[in-house]
Amino acid sequence: MEANKKQFKTLLESIGNTPIVRLDLPVKPTVLAKLEFMNPSGSLKDRAALYMVEEAERLGKLKPGGTIVEATSGNQGIALAMIGAIKGYRVIITVPDRTAVEKIAILRAYGAEVHVCPNAANHDDPQGYHARAEQLLHEIPGAFMPNQYYSKSNAMGHYYSTGPEIWQQTEGKVTHFIAGAGTCGTISGVGQYLKEQNPAVKIIGVDAANSFYSSKEPKTYTVEGLGIDVISETFNQAVVDHVIPITDEDAFNTTRRVAKENGLLVGISSGAVLHVALKYAQQLTENDLVVVILADSGRSYLNKVFIAQQPEPRQAVKSTPHSQERIV
Ligand code: PMP
Repeated sequence: MEANKKQFKTLLESIGNTPIVRLDLPVKPTVLAKLEFMNPSGSLKDRAALYMVEEAERLGKLKPGGTIVEATSGNQGIALAMIGAIKGYRVIITVPDRTAVEKIAILRAYGAEVHVCPNAANHDDPQGYHARAEQLLHEIPGAFMPNQYYSKSNAMGHYYSTGPEIWQQTEGKVTHFIAGAGTCGTISGVGQYLKEQNPAVKIIGVDAANSFYSSKEPKTYTVEGLGIDVISETFNQAVVDHVIPITDEDAFNTTRRVAKENGLLVGISSGAVLHVALKYAQQLTENDLVVVILADSGRSYLNKVFIAQQPEPRQAVKSTPHSQERIV
């Protein structure tokens, strides 16, 4: 195996250029997974967060020693906390109380201040994490809020990095792109880039079934990372072909299954994306090439997804003709 010869000058330079891996799935098209959990803070959000912070620095909105405030269900905050630790910013993150305990611990490990707020059903709820972040922004002089839900720069982070990488790694052969949709920065940025290369590429977002976008009666949900609760200029609907809703149950079950059956210890949004990919691929052929985003690792959800489950014996069978014993 050839070693990666590139020596990075800073941790931030090592963001992106994640591997793309062929998955062995019982479907006709080739399915390639982009391993975004291999970014330095552990998720795809390193890309968008770095782009937004460096743009704010260029525009003079964020000054040396300044404060970054953001409302996030976790990974954007984790990415900002890592970037803040490297660049010397104070970072304050507000999260909903559905956020996995591991993510809150990671935020604190990077030195961020974390405010845990009630799990509000919409962004305007004064008790919710969005309202709390706005309040902090106004209270702290010179504070900067990347505002991932309302920022085109969020999508541009993916337009300039994730999109071109996928195009190069598939040698222009990608036909379908499937990713979780939260702020919709990923599907909008990658979607714009891929459609500029080939307008026939289909862009598919995976949403929480109970979200503001997918449900007539939005309710809270437990999947993390995805769920469209705001439609803003971050969401470029013109480049998105389908948004497919998924239940908590399907997302959690597939997340558990792929760890055991495919060796993929991934987060809940990745489980959701793989569930949709398996179904969607039924209508595709050998000539199609599907790229899925595995946004973060299952290590952030050990309590929420994995520890609560019952241990199940492996269904392996001894291949002797007389005994059909189960090897446990
Ligand atoms: N999955 C996970 C685990 C995430 O943290 C995010 C970011 N919220 C997404 C999917 C969705 O990405 P985006 O916000 O770009 O739509």
